Amino acid sequence: MEINLTNLSSTIPAEPQQVKVLVLGSGPAGLSAALYAARAELNPVVLTGMVLGGQVSLTYTVENYPGFPEGVGGQELVKLFQKQAERFGARIEYDTVTQVDLSKRPFRVTTYNGIYLADSLIVATGASSRHLEVPGEVELTGRGVSYCATCDGWFFKDKDVVVVGGGDSAIEEGLFLTRYAKSITIVHRRSELRAGAVLQKHATEHPKIRFIWNSAISAIVGDEAVKAVRLKNLVTKEESELPVDGVFIFIGHDPNTEIFKGQLNMDTRGYISVDASMGTNVPGVFVAGEAGDPIFRQVVTSAGMGAAAGMQAVRFLGKQEG
Ligand SMILES: Cc1cc2nc3c(=O)[nH]c(=O)nc-3n(C[C@H](O)[C@H](O)[C@H](O)COP(=O)(O)OP(=O)(O)OC[C@H]3O[C@@H](n4cnc5c(N)ncnc54)[C@H](O)[C@@H]3O)c2cc1C
Repeated sequence: MEINLTNLSSTIPAEPQQVKVLVLGSGPAGLSAALYAARAELNPVVLTGMVLGGQVSLTYTVENYPGFPEGVGGQELVKLFQKQAERFGARIEYDTVTQVDLSKRPFRVTTYNGIYLADSLIVATGASSRHLEVPGEVELTGRGVSYCATCDGWFFKDKDVVVVGGGDSAIEEGLFLTRYAKSITIVHRRSELRAGAVLQKHATEHPKIRFIWNSAISAIVGDEAVKAVRLKNLVTKEESELPVDGVFIFIGHDPNTEIFKGQLNMDTRGYISVDASMGTNVPGVFVAGEAGDPIFRQVVTSAGMGAAAGMQAVRFLGKQEG
């Protein structure tokens, strides 16, 4: 769920706010961390960032989160996470972090709306969709180029769309688009999909879905709206143009960790280095979810890391207070 940050200036606090546990991010990791810190009566504050509920709120259905044998809507699931954390005293703030100073405690966190001084910090800023970085992509985003089928699929009723990617997300979202679009062409760089076997079967058997293999999009064409994509076959080097109304891009994610660079240790891709106790190189700063997980990247694993980080923040503060 994208948040509109206009008209929030009235919430700007005059003084820095002192908090015991500040959670950065409102996805499964952040809300689970907040639940554990809240149950320890530490009144955690969760800063939502721009996407309340995180990536899972952008997906139509989640079928692999335990406890929901029939599956559960992505937005519904994170609303339940939020409700549960709030029930024990977590406070959700619609705000985004712009800067952090982790050189001493309390940590100083600057947001759009003010400043927080936090005794402990849980970084759960997750990840964002990777871009194709081809001509036309930026200009036509919101005019036919999308990174969220659940959000934008409805606009493509009886239209022809392209889905870019070959992993679980691409295939799941391609299948979701069959509800609306007339045709879905999945363009993939390789000759086979990376998606799980069940998803592959559903997609390959679906009458509305076809595949273009070994190909990449080299440009998205259109003025006011998307009209076509330029394709390059990576084996034959042949170029072609395919008329389409929409382009849905699911080619992976990058961690939202830019603001911690130089302060928290991270790998070359920007995933924060996290130890078995969710700790970082800065005592009192913990990491949970995709911001520190290049491997599993699931709701259940992110929520698990969040729970662990919440527990560790509680222990850390307990030790500080003797
Ligand atoms: C289309 C799609 C379908 C998916 N389907 C499934 C599925 O079926 N099953 C499954 O298990 N997983 C699925 N996933 C993966 C799953 O959604 C993620 O693994 C999970 O959401 C990661 O949780 P997280 O809390 O670490 O981060 P995210 O969900 O990425 O949340 C990050 C949070 O941090 C906030 N944030 C970012 N920057 C800042 C900042 N500067 N200041 C404050 N807040 C900030 C964001 O606003 C957001 O609230 C899917 C992902 C996508 C994109």
